[in-house]
Amino acid sequence: MRNSIILCILITVNVCGVVQSVSAQTPMPGKRVVPAQKRIVIAASTVLDGKGRVLRNTRIVIEGSKIVAVDSKAGPVDYDLRGLTVLPGWIDAHVHITWSFGRDGRNAGPGGASQEAAYSAAANAWVTLMAGFTTVQSVGSPTDIPLRDAIAKGALPGPRILTAVEPLLGQGETTGTPDEIREYVRKQKEAGADLIKIFASQSIRLGGGMTLSQEQLNAACDEAKKRGLRTLVHAYKDAVRAATLAGCTEIEHGTMATDDDLKLMAQKGTYLDPQAGLVIENYLLNKDKFLGTPGYTEEGFAAMEKVLSLNHQLVQRAVKTPGLKIVFGTDALAGSHGRNAEEFIDRVRDGGMDPMAAMVSANSLGAEALGMANQIGAIAPGLQADIIALDGDPLKDISAVRRVVFVMKGGVVYKNAARNF
Ligand SMILES: [Zn+2]
Repeated sequence: MRNSIILCILITVNVCGVVQSVSAQTPMPGKRVVPAQKRIVIAASTVLDGKGRVLRNTRIVIEGSKIVAVDSKAGPVDYDLRGLTVLPGWIDAHVHITWSFGRDGRNAGPGGASQEAAYSAAANAWVTLMAGFTTVQSVGSPTDIPLRDAIAKGALPGPRILTAVEPLLGQGETTGTPDEIREYVRKQKEAGADLIKIFASQSIRLGGGMTLSQEQLNAACDEAKKRGLRTLVHAYKDAVRAATLAGCTEIEHGTMATDDDLKLMAQKGTYLDPQAGLVIENYLLNKDKFLGTPGYTEEGFAAMEKVLSLNHQLVQRAVKTPGLKIVFGTDALAGSHGRNAEEFIDRVRDGGMDPMAAMVSANSLGAEALGMANQIGAIAPGLQADIIALDGDPLKDISAVRRVVFVMKGGVVYKNAARNF
């Protein structure tokens, strides 16, 4: 009995302590009261709106996960990003987010299921977000799914992930009949795919020949469309035209496409995602980690050195093709996660792309290609508050894309290393 009285006294004291500390935090008169839906105001001197326009001296108002206004009179300011370039978080249409180097430091591919592989995948997501990429499309590995879902729940920091789960690997006739291919597409949808990835050409390291017939491609892209899914087709040479004629959504790589192929893509509204440099530069940089692992031979590396100049030429021709919709994708894999923005530099420096077009390709145009233009890719009311800031102006010096100092995704600030903080 005595003990319980003492306990009661202790509890009472403790409760009082809690009450006191809460009352000590109540706002002083005149201090701003934080509303239930958190409101954040960002001040900016230069904003690229994601659609090709530049806004000067304005403020972006965020409530919860969304932008609610762009208003130069809004206040009080929570983040002063004046002196920086503010723009929507970038979208990378082609990554392999779970692809890492293994414990032995060598290429481990995208499908590892060990704890090391899982932690590496989470680390890849983190560095990608820190590099300013707030949405990525991973194409594809079934191991993307738990990472996608953990990030979507807010359990792990990372970019929003869309995944193709398992790709359709073209292997000539053995790939299957058109009906079997349709069945395969439906299976990916059931497994949680956001899109369908199709390999319609061999690796460029093996010559890049077609691995699916026109009829097979027609079946794959038509079935995906019927199920409300987009199709991304790994295609070189003749496969570019075949995938365009099949009504597929987007061509990946596109190396050795002719000018007529590019014109046809523009006419049909097919998106092109060429890789001007990063993916091959990364292979060459990490040659010792890839060589001897499945698919990577000395001959393959020799071929890649030649392909690099073909890829520069492709981007040079693509940017001169009127109406062709060029989106941003890096093919980021082991060694290049977090360095995705290098591809902007390659496209501008080696591909002759206009810097503003390069930014838009990873903002509103990238969002349109994902079917998400009403959610991401622009600084506009109603859209997700995916906002980044660069120390420098990418329109004058494209290497500014390396200096991402502020990252907000869905209204949450993940990085704030701005100079004035
Ligand atoms: Zn890829």
